[in-house]
Amino acid sequence: MTRVAIVTGGTRGIGEAICLALQEQGRTVVANYAGNEEKAKAFTERTGIKAYRWDVGDHEATMEGCARVAAEVGAIDIVVNNAGITRDGVLHKMSFDDWNEVMRINLGGCFNMAKATFQGMRDRGWGRIVNIGSINGQAGQYGQVNYAAAKSGIHGFTKALAQEGAKYGVTVNAIAPGYIDTDMVAAVPPAVLEKIVARIPTGRLGQASEIARGVAFLTSEEGGFVTGSTMSINGGQHMY
Ligand code: NDP
Repeated sequence: MTRVAIVTGGTRGIGEAICLALQEQGRTVVANYAGNEEKAKAFTERTGIKAYRWDVGDHEATMEGCARVAAEVGAIDIVVNNAGITRDGVLHKMSFDDWNEVMRINLGGCFNMAKATFQGMRDRGWGRIVNIGSINGQAGQYGQVNYAAAKSGIHGFTKALAQEGAKYGVTVNAIAPGYIDTDMVAAVPPAVLEKIVARIPTGRLGQASEIARGVAFLTSEEGGFVTGSTMSINGGQHMY
């Protein structure tokens, strides 16, 4: 049986690599994205994977989007909550909007996607949810109280939901990436990035495909005994 997987924020960066790894595993994959039509179109042309546009921070839009995927593609058995944004700034310069927007999308998006899909997984007796956290949710990061709080929240959310799914064949895990070579990291000023790389024991940024391999394992049949865990993929930068 081909299982249907959805990757939020799947049209570029780490999300695209995850889509490709799941496709390689024989899953029927769809991606979600926020609004960058150009990147989404190029992604679908490259991969043949259908992309659905909605804001995962919007509860109603997420419920409707997942219902549409289920009707057009099939019941969703695998969810990868990868969509995420940054709105960095030290606390005294961070606006309430910057705080709210990051919590709404990065953490609220996980809740919304779970609300739309978890019950169906439980009813069918099989499901996989992987939430993409961050090293900065584990260790904190200067100028990122919003992002670190949301990502740290993802790790708590994962452990709580894992307990609700375990008896029903639904596993819930998180991956905490370190610094990965994507558009998000390209936005970090070069001088800051140089200092960050100097603190990574492997001496380099990670590749999106290295996160994707972790997701492929956690969503596999063989990954069924792993739940409530956080897999750190960070070049040894933070050993937790
Ligand atoms: P990118 O910025 O490269 O891509 C983000 C993706 O998320 C895009 O597809 C974007 O869609 C989508 N997205 C953003 N907001 C929403 C929304 N409201 N609803 C739906 N989709 C949305 O991110 P990365 O690949 O770098 O990061 C992916 C995940 O990994 C994020 O959760 C990030 O926090 C996490 N992470 C990344 C690290 C890194 O070093 N890069 C390190 C640790 C964690 P669109 O193209 O339409 O804008």
